[in-house]
Amino acid sequence: MKAHIVLLPGDGIGPEVVAAARRVLEEIGTARGHTWTFTSKPIGGAALQKNLPPLPDDTLAAALAADAVLLGAVGDPAYEKLPPSERPESALLKVRRELGVFANLRPARSWPGLEQSGPLKPEVFAGTDLIVVRELLGGLYYGEPRGTDPATGAVVNTMRYTRPEIERVAHVAFRLARKRRRDLVSVDKANVLEVSQFWRTVVTEVGRGYPDVTLSHQLVDSCAMKLALAPAGFDVVLTENMFGDILSDEASMLTGSIGMLPSASLDANGKGLYEPIHGSAPDIAGQGKANPLAMILSMAMMFRYTFGKADIAARIERAVRSALAAGLRTADIAAKGIKPCATADMGTAVAKAL
Ligand code: NAD
Repeated sequence: MKAHIVLLPGDGIGPEVVAAARRVLEEIGTARGHTWTFTSKPIGGAALQKNLPPLPDDTLAAALAADAVLLGAVGDPAYEKLPPSERPESALLKVRRELGVFANLRPARSWPGLEQSGPLKPEVFAGTDLIVVRELLGGLYYGEPRGTDPATGAVVNTMRYTRPEIERVAHVAFRLARKRRRDLVSVDKANVLEVSQFWRTVVTEVGRGYPDVTLSHQLVDSCAMKLALAPAGFDVVLTENMFGDILSDEASMLTGSIGMLPSASLDANGKGLYEPIHGSAPDIAGQGKANPLAMILSMAMMFRYTFGKADIAARIERAVRSALAAGLRTADIAAKGIKPCATADMGTAVAKAL
């Protein structure tokens, strides 16, 4: 196959993890006769440094024209005093909206060999294999009005959802559940928020079209508790934008490290933006300490969801397992006394294991 992939390395550890993923992609291309072409474009702080806006027109145009987009991370402490609409992170919201990627899939599973690297007891998360489906283009992150009301000085964000916005992401989650263990938990705050009551009503209605999938509803606070208590009980977790952001970071601890959690953001046709759930990690940027596996596993999701090549996705996931089984560990997942490897070494190990 041939594909044009746009790389948006971004800030902090973004370029390091994207370089490792590219190494793996090139290996797949060479070994299996695929042809990838790459274009790399600045986004976030990397664009601001060139006196460009956080999402330059040229970057957006390239992303829109690509078959798939791989994004590292954005966020640079040098710009944290800027208003939210001018900060590097504003590019993330904009590129997601312009690409129309409304469904964010965030799988979290326990990885053999990493049982001791996270903060939870291994027996708590053994056997965990869940996926959070987060609505990505609505809710508090996009709702208007937002900002300061000049009349009162009050600061406002708005949680807003329309029926079509809920329906389309619910269909994605139900279809996914059908390919998994057919169990879907929809998470909301329906005991307090009208928007959540509406969410619950619409998801229930969509669920009637999937009688083979068991649907239940859970409040976000109790879901947060149950995720830490009995994560293996979850299959598909469907939720709105901010709840999904928070719950999937929590779920990342089940995998041992936030550096292990990939994501796919999909539009109505399966075109996607693939990015790890972690940020730019300024505390370890430029030191070769970042774990590239979340980025590499995001790339595996690209093969599964955009290119329809589940075999290549599974091959990459097996290569990650092999690299871990061989004992390779970046600092975030290294047990005490184990010498951590560098970001690039992990990328090379996965490429070799392919
Ligand atoms: P972060 O995810 O960047 O880092 C949190 C902690 O996890 C840090 O200790 C970091 O060292 C560690 N970590 C993260 N990724 C890692 C990896 N691959 N390997 C090893 N350790 C890793 O979150 P933060 O510190 O809250 O945010 C830093 C910046 O990133 C901020 O500017 C924030 O706005 C931005 N951010 C961007 C995204 C994104 O691009 N999608 C997501 C979250 C935060």
